[in-house]
Amino acid sequence: MTIDAPGDAGLEILPLPAFNDNYIWTLRRGDKVVVVDPGDPAPVESYLAREGLDLTAILITHHHADHTGGIGALTARRDIPVYGPAAADIAGVTAGLADGDSVDLPELDRAFEVLEVPGHTATHIAFLSGDLLFPGDTLFSAGCGRLLGGTAEQLHASLERLKDLPGSTRVYCTHEYTLANLKFAQAAEPDNAERDAWFAHCRSLRSDGQPTLPSTMERERAINPFLRTGSASVIKAVTRHTGRRPASDLACFTALRAWKDEF
Ligand SMILES: [Zn+2]
Repeated sequence: MTIDAPGDAGLEILPLPAFNDNYIWTLRRGDKVVVVDPGDPAPVESYLAREGLDLTAILITHHHADHTGGIGALTARRDIPVYGPAAADIAGVTAGLADGDSVDLPELDRAFEVLEVPGHTATHIAFLSGDLLFPGDTLFSAGCGRLLGGTAEQLHASLERLKDLPGSTRVYCTHEYTLANLKFAQAAEPDNAERDAWFAHCRSLRSDGQPTLPSTMERERAINPFLRTGSASVIKAVTRHTGRRPASDLACFTALRAWKDEF
């Protein structure tokens, strides 16, 4: 399956499934390819060999092994740049990035802006180019990353920042967690017809073996409870679950994150 980038007919974006539920996103123009978060080198190498392509760069969002495990093998016989968060000190990263940095990828005719989005980890970054967002494990469809090093306050602020991106922004999440997230979203916000419609669509995609991603920011703003801490239905459900009405958006977010951890 190939997904063309919006408004950029020459750029193809393809997910390579890895492990149980990871996607390694590949961006291809002609015979040049850039990969995002290659946790496993094997599906990348077989894709390159099958299509006769050159790997020209690697983008890394955070240090977890299921996002970085392929760096060593993929760069063993290639002299290519590996871009990742400077603060994470990841083995194999050749260009450390911080908020506001730009990654120029002339082979794709694209430049990516770097957004620091801590929370899932303390040093997580996202890559943004026009309508394309690679948020790593910060944002999932109908969900968000767990707190594995960062704080709820950081993750909430990071998600609020991503939420402000244009609705047309395509969200290339790195895990196929959508159905499980939607199940939780039903508990966390019982009244949401748009979410119910997306759930039905995703069930049908998964039963056909198709990814539910990318999503869009417009959809996530409508269906993702972690972006909807001001929704009356979310506040009511959190109040019922915790026995206490959340005093702020952050308190609501923190309660949602803790609830999902045990869901
Ligand atoms: Zn992770």
